[in-house]
Amino acid sequence: MLRVQSDVPGGELAADVSRLRALVRSGATSSLAWRLDQLVALRSALVRDEDVLVRALAVDLGKPAAEAMITEIGVVVAEIDYVRRHLAGWVRGDKVRVGLAGWPGRASVERCPLGVVLVVSPWNYPVYLGVMPVVSALAAGSCAVVKPSELAPATAAALARLLPAATPAAVVAEGGPSVVHEALSAGVDHLFFTGSTAVGRIVAESAGRLLVPVTLELGGKCPAVVDATVDPRAAARRIVWGKFANAGQTCVAPDYVLVHQEVADRFADEVCAAVRAFYGADPRRSPDYGRIVDKRHLDRLLQILEGHAGRVVLGGGCDPDDRYLAPTVVREPALSSRLMREEIFGPVLPVVAVADVPRALEVVGALPDPLAVYAFTRDAGTIRALRDGTRSGGFFVNVAKSQLGIAGLAFGGIGQSGTGSSRGRLGVEALSQHRSLYARPAWPDLALHHPPYGNLGTWLLRRMLHMPGRPRHEGAPTGRS
Ligand code: NAD
Repeated sequence: MLRVQSDVPGGELAADVSRLRALVRSGATSSLAWRLDQLVALRSALVRDEDVLVRALAVDLGKPAAEAMITEIGVVVAEIDYVRRHLAGWVRGDKVRVGLAGWPGRASVERCPLGVVLVVSPWNYPVYLGVMPVVSALAAGSCAVVKPSELAPATAAALARLLPAATPAAVVAEGGPSVVHEALSAGVDHLFFTGSTAVGRIVAESAGRLLVPVTLELGGKCPAVVDATVDPRAAARRIVWGKFANAGQTCVAPDYVLVHQEVADRFADEVCAAVRAFYGADPRRSPDYGRIVDKRHLDRLLQILEGHAGRVVLGGGCDPDDRYLAPTVVREPALSSRLMREEIFGPVLPVVAVADVPRALEVVGALPDPLAVYAFTRDAGTIRALRDGTRSGGFFVNVAKSQLGIAGLAFGGIGQSGTGSSRGRLGVEALSQHRSLYARPAWPDLALHHPPYGNLGTWLLRRMLHMPGRPRHEGAPTGRS
């Protein structure tokens, strides 16, 4: 089951996809018992191999062990437990009242396995983002081909051992972009892509040509808006945790902060104090501070740190050999700079003072819709204004990123930050087929349903369809009288 970059066209990956499709079509994956068994096995494998995964994450990303346990493995285990508790209720079909028009008969919408889901994941949370969609797929009675990021190879190799050993319904296809296109051509039933907006566009185009439906979990710039009513220290500590965990390489990390001008200086001081409290005077020595995934991303970050026209009030230092970039805070960068227009995806936090909520809405509204908007306030009016005045995958109050810890809470973007949902009930539904059923007894065969309709028949049909009283169709054929 373990696949290394498949350079040979029509190779084993196609055979794996066929085998998984045959498994789904055999009907074996439909039962609730099968789905629950796979989830239990996956949970056991994650718990058993926790150390292996934590070590791999340290190699790939310098990820601290506690962070790996919480944000990569623990959240998936908690999600599995949540799904197992609720799955019986979700897979039951929804009855649909047939009304007079459908009488006598019964209708429902069943949730059937969709088929083979291609899961393409990024490097920043390679366990969480590689395995979480597999949880939804197995719960849906579907199978999964996981294509992890080639930029986190140690974790990809660990998953390639763990997943197929846990369930016959998952394989791992290691390698680069060509594997994605090869798997799509092999005839998968759904593409679940997590990654950048630019690559999302490419894979969505390829999937579209093959009429493969997609879930796209993409990126963007998530704003945090801090008003003058909130305790600046508490807000700063939560934002610093959300931003600098995994060295800022989190899709829902607060990308930048818009803070009320009255409290902007105090808030910025509290941000710097929180960074020192969490990671010490020299974060490079902190066991709790991660590294940038590779040199290319470090160079990208150093480039967007140039020409922003703001003031670096903390950090800025780097060590390319160690892939280290210090937690960095920039005050008042130009809104037109790359720092304020591109997704940062690294440990750099711009802090911009604004006069009021309408101005904050203007700044947020000038950028594409993000995955998350964070409001830090104690004022219900501000919460309403920010919630109603923005569009985003999620809206969160006085938290930054910790929504990911809520098992079962659906996750997704809107517009350029993505389409479709993962996790919870919506995640399972997305990887299920919603199949309509309607059955009528073979007898009686009502003449009413067939021509010639006649006046009485037409009148009855109008009543059944709740159409208003009979209009005059002048010039129209009158039918049987
Ligand atoms: P990426 O888009 O470069 O790569 C993601 C995956 O796509 C990888 O497996 C890669 O091999 C594959 N890929 C790359 N180029 C491809 C191509 N031309 N054709 C087919 N497949 C291709 O993303 P990344 O650098 O790994 O991750 C960072 C991005 O992911 C950020 O933008 C971040 O916001 C986003 N992200 C989003 C979420 C979310 O849940 N919405 C979560 C994590 C990361």
